[in-house]
Amino acid sequence: MGTEATPAAGINKPVLTPKALIHQKYGSRACYRIEEVQHAVGNVCPGLVIQQQVRSLYRCCLDLPDLSVTSDTFTRKKDAEQSAAQIAVEKLGIQAKANSSTPEEAWNELVARISGLFTDEFLSSSHPLVGHFRVALRKEGDLFGMIPMSVIAACDVKVNSLCRIIDPKAESDAHLVLLLISKAAKVSGSACIIDDKFWIWKGGPYSSEAIESSLHHSSDCLESVNIEAIRIPCALEEEVGTLSLLVSDTKYYMDEIAKKLNVNNSSEVLISKTVGKASSEIKLYFPTPDGLLSASDSSNDPLGIVGDVKMGPLLNKRASYLSGQNIYGDAILANVGYTWRSTELFCEDVSLSAYYRMLVSKLPDGSYKLSRDAILAAELPAVYTTRSNWKGSFPRDLLCLFCRQQRLLEPIFSVRNVNSLESSPGFKEINTSELTEVQYANEVLGGVLDRDLDTSSGFQCEVKIFSKRQEVLIEYSSGDTYRKESDAIQSSALKVLTWFKKYFKQLDMPMEELSSFGSTDNIKVHPIIFSQELAASSFVYDFKQMYVTRNCSSFGSLFKNQSNLILQNGMILLNVEGPDSGVYPSSGSLTCISYAASLVREEDTAKFFLESNDEFEFEIGTGAVINQIEACVTQMSVNQVAQFVVELPSRDMILAASGESANGLSQLSLRNCFLEFSVKVLCVTEPLEDRMEKALFNPPLSKQRVEFAVRHINESHAATLVDFGCGSGSLLDSLLEHTTSLEKIIGVDISHKSLTRAAKILHQKLTKNSVMQTCIRSTALYDGSITEFDSRLFGFDIGTCLEVIEHMEEDQACLFGDVALNLFCPRILIISTPNYEYNPILQRSASGTKEDDLEEKSGSCKFRNHDHKFEWTREQFEQWATNLAVRHDYSVQFSGVGGSGDVEPGFASQIAVFRRNPSHWLEKICLPDGDSSHPYELVWEWTNKPL
Ligand code: SAH
Ligand code: MG
Repeated sequence: MGTEATPAAGINKPVLTPKALIHQKYGSRACYRIEEVQHAVGNVCPGLVIQQQVRSLYRCCLDLPDLSVTSDTFTRKKDAEQSAAQIAVEKLGIQAKANSSTPEEAWNELVARISGLFTDEFLSSSHPLVGHFRVALRKEGDLFGMIPMSVIAACDVKVNSLCRIIDPKAESDAHLVLLLISKAAKVSGSACIIDDKFWIWKGGPYSSEAIESSLHHSSDCLESVNIEAIRIPCALEEEVGTLSLLVSDTKYYMDEIAKKLNVNNSSEVLISKTVGKASSEIKLYFPTPDGLLSASDSSNDPLGIVGDVKMGPLLNKRASYLSGQNIYGDAILANVGYTWRSTELFCEDVSLSAYYRMLVSKLPDGSYKLSRDAILAAELPAVYTTRSNWKGSFPRDLLCLFCRQQRLLEPIFSVRNVNSLESSPGFKEINTSELTEVQYANEVLGGVLDRDLDTSSGFQCEVKIFSKRQEVLIEYSSGDTYRKESDAIQSSALKVLTWFKKYFKQLDMPMEELSSFGSTDNIKVHPIIFSQELAASSFVYDFKQMYVTRNCSSFGSLFKNQSNLILQNGMILLNVEGPDSGVYPSSGSLTCISYAASLVREEDTAKFFLESNDEFEFEIGTGAVINQIEACVTQMSVNQVAQFVVELPSRDMILAASGESANGLSQLSLRNCFLEFSVKVLCVTEPLEDRMEKALFNPPLSKQRVEFAVRHINESHAATLVDFGCGSGSLLDSLLEHTTSLEKIIGVDISHKSLTRAAKILHQKLTKNSVMQTCIRSTALYDGSITEFDSRLFGFDIGTCLEVIEHMEEDQACLFGDVALNLFCPRILIISTPNYEYNPILQRSASGTKEDDLEEKSGSCKFRNHDHKFEWTREQFEQWATNLAVRHDYSVQFSGVGGSGDVEPGFASQIAVFRRNPSHWLEKICLPDGDSSHPYELVWEWTNKPL
């Protein structure tokens, strides 16, 4: 198996693969070329056209700037690449780029670094620390030239990384860094400190030129400004709120922060690493142990104070979780500091909403919502269909981001190339060597199958998540196979994220339950490590409140005076405005909406605007939006507008979404508040299958299927019809427009959404068209699975099942065949399904000229539609249908629509027409035996009252 580690800067991988090592050293300058080597194994019979056993082997050439190597041959490309990389690693003697220096060397470097900071030359550099020095040199009296040690730790990357080598605990302990700096300052001799205080200053005087130039250098142009910062109290019951910091060039901002933290002076302020975006200056400020315990006894071992015993209760859990460092006492989150870019002080507001966005971004689905700029509306989709249908950040990036946010190592994705035939009736599982033979035969015989479209090979991807200490937290592995490597990776990343999301809804789960909680999603959890690493989340998020769903009856009363449609999911659809344009979103379509979300209150009519989006596109059926939006949108057509009301999401989410108005909102009680959405459907892009059917066939394939059915209805003088899997009722609807012999038409489907839409469409047509061309007298829609028998639909003249079976698992499709012919026993049954062999033509035509486009539009899906569970070749379909007919005393004929049956590769849509044989028992008895069973639920019914 080719295991590829994703190299991440500055992090030691458990084991770096040769390729990762090469990448670390050469990056994109390393060029891999794969050569395919055909290799005959076993007895090759001379003169035989088809070789009995042929295997493709691969060799990899790796070109580096100063070396080229070629690997041995391998059955997998990945192995060849790793082997080539391994050879290069050996030849060049490359080693993992570890922190090469020992703690001792780092200590010496630290001493030298501290000395270097306190020199005349440093004062004229553009280092961010210089700003602090300048302010210090302007001070008078005792504090002249003295700077808080914490700014050295906060502003100098080098000092920080050296401290981490000297003592790894420095990573999360800002106080320890200060202790190391003061020790180094003592040794250096060029910087002065006072014991147990965190001031540091230059040992000797600066030259007057250095002072002059540095003071003149400053532009002193920053007027005093108030910036907004966030106060994160240590006590969890206290709310996070805003405070204002007065900042100017002349007044030291650290002094201002010290004042707000209630400590004596700026040397008693500790500074965290950058929080949030690395490019910002957003940091947490909090008291040193001295500042924290103002009446401290200043023991000889200040580190002991930070031990869990005394400081434990003072750990600021929210701030620590946010920064990944230990933060004690009340903390201030502010965006202020000197930068390399300019000599002036940089400062910016940190709003309350920005704070909540940081919190949300640490949720498994938070970064997705943020990347879509839709915190209240977007949901992390449950499935990854195609690259082009996925909106927002990609699952793999999201998972990497999540791990980084949770202070874990980058996830490791291992991709495996597997060969397996999808199980189909009559197909046994084929092992690898047999399979290669099949593929080869296809090529040699010039079969129409595009080899790339063959279902027989694919990729599986496993994911492992590690702690910073390189212990495994979870391992994901499943048998799911994808045609493209990148789809395997994205889908696995999504599965892991989805599982984390599920876990974050139950953060209080006992450790013992973790194993079984993971196993249902193919995830192996290592409970102890896992709980350790994710424990911090549980007290930061109010997870109980976060995902609470109140009973919707509580706001039923709120809108009782309106004629509302109460839908599932505890939502109330207030109204739908605008004429029905007939263009509506269906499963698999890309739908573009605009929406606005506001907070509404029971008591008054006040509305607080929260979030809006002018163009928000998502794929229907994947769970990419909160389910109420989808439920609403699937009831609407393009250009219609609707309002609905839902339960409030968590306070965190509301405040994160509210932007500028967060401050006002945080004061507000959210009790008796609801969320109101106003949604407009802007446009709908149909799924690829529908687009192809329309674009490539005239009339569109769906219409041709209807006409095919109409022909058989009239030829057989059918009076009763049942449409199995009627969907949104497109066939039933068209039948109303044709003159047929039908009197009664019934639709059955398992999708309530589709049935609702079908009911709407049929109802409109039947009530509007007073003069009808048809003699249809009754029609009804049933909710139920067509694999179950319902006696009300027994013995109809004609049954149709158009483009349905491929939406069911294969065994269910076969079950339906038996139930239909054995129990429903229609006189005629028409079943249509895609012809798999036709796909290359559809995909080629759909892609136009661009190769890339082909990959984009259809590349990751071997079937026409992502909801298809299988697509059969003509042989598979005919074999299944023939056996089925024989079993149940029917005859069967094959036909189709789109293309021609006489020309390869046959019809685009293949159709089987089953007819009850004259010998069939029903032809003689005419009555269903046994008693009636009515598992189907009647959804809608219409009967034409006789005049
Ligand atoms: N026949 C329609 C719809 C095809 S889409 C048309 O030609 O336009 C496939 C439909 O099959 C979907 O509406 C889906 O809900 C339905 N379906 C899938 N499995 C089903 C089952 N077990 N029972 C009933 N309907 C099912
Ligand atoms: Mg279909």
